[in-house]
Amino acid sequence: MAKSLVEEQPGVVVDLVMVKEGIKKGAEINRHADKDLEVLITNLGLIYKHKNGKYLVAKVKGDLEALAEDTKARGDWFGIPQCCVKAFLEQGSKLSEKISKEEIKALQSGKHIPNEFFLGSYGYIPCSLDCKFTLERGIKTKVALDRIDPRLWGRFKDVHLRRRLVEFGGEVCWWKK
Ligand SMILES: [Zn+2]
Repeated sequence: MAKSLVEEQPGVVVDLVMVKEGIKKGAEINRHADKDLEVLITNLGLIYKHKNGKYLVAKVKGDLEALAEDTKARGDWFGIPQCCVKAFLEQGSKLSEKISKEEIKALQSGKHIPNEFFLGSYGYIPCSLDCKFTLERGIKTKVALDRIDPRLWGRFKDVHLRRRLVEFGGEVCWWKK
């Protein structure tokens, strides 16, 4: 029997669901030919193309062909908010550092950052912790995940958010080196 969505990597599931919901035009999944994944993609009503060890997934054929090379066009294809693409183009890898510092500060001062924010920013660095487009993207995605199978959100939290807490929690840094 083919694999179910709950058994697939949660990050891949989030990508596929975002494409299905029109939150992004397409997804790019690094994977060798995988029949189970192809069945999941097709069952969600999406189409794909497999090339050079990558699946390109979209809802409509035109989008499948339209993935360009430059950052701005790719950002648009992946449904990344324009403010976040702009911030990345301007600040590059410094943006990630800035956001991590902002996050530590926010957590130290007891500021609440909704889990949906991290879901929304899955796959890119948000322009700020207050980016409302990123939060909206996450809220929409969570609603869709819950509608498809309530276990999907739990899986994403376990694999991506809890791991994030361990990795960025501070304690890990010294023994990782
Ligand atoms: Zn933004």
